[in-house]
Amino acid sequence: MKQIILDRIPFQPDRNQLIKRLHVDINSEDGARLMSMIEQAEGIGRPKAIYTLASIDSKDEDGVIVDGIRLSSYVMRVNFADINRVFPYVVTCGRELYEWAACLDDMLEQYWADIIMEQALAAALKYFYNHLENEYRLGKFKSMNPGSLEDWPISQQKQLFKIIGNVQESIGVELTDSCLMIPIKSTSGIVFQTESGFENCRLCPREDCPNRRVDYNPQLLDEKYKLNKK
Ligand code: SF4
Repeated sequence: MKQIILDRIPFQPDRNQLIKRLHVDINSEDGARLMSMIEQAEGIGRPKAIYTLASIDSKDEDGVIVDGIRLSSYVMRVNFADINRVFPYVVTCGRELYEWAACLDDMLEQYWADIIMEQALAAALKYFYNHLENEYRLGKFKSMNPGSLEDWPISQQKQLFKIIGNVQESIGVELTDSCLMIPIKSTSGIVFQTESGFENCRLCPREDCPNRRVDYNPQLLDEKYKLNKK
């Protein structure tokens, strides 16, 4: 297992996007407060990522063994059918911003900090994907995330963290008993090479999700993953 930590990820908050999204008049008192917070976040923010280059040891009917640990997911079994290496990862906005935000009393500022941390996470994720692309020439790749599908529940975070190893010590991301991550603006998953257009959202029936990237496709469940027939 090869473990890599990315802890020098640059973070420059996108001021224009924040002003627009938060509906703040830059010339107002709130505008000055927001600018001050953005400057603080830029100084403090240290988004990070950790991943491993992991081997798929074997596959069974509804799961795969990755670096000796079984992950239970029929969708994963199908997605990993033709590959033998994957990239389990955790990416985070960083403990520095999380602790900075935790000290804010004002509810509006807490909300702004939340959105700034989302930007930091997005910057880290983009950096991580570019890093994979440059280091391994993956071509097309996609990600599966524990908890995004009923087939791969959030409880599988424990196995994912075990595969990666030392996540808390390395990048400060803690896994709670209920398998949520702290800082909350963190994401975890497994990147895998594929020519398919796999998206978790295609298999997820959740209605009104603000983060949906593509339409739900129940036929895909029947045709490719056969989940509805299991
Ligand atoms: S629709 Fe929403 S909840 Fe479902 S997989 Fe996509 S982003 Fe996640």
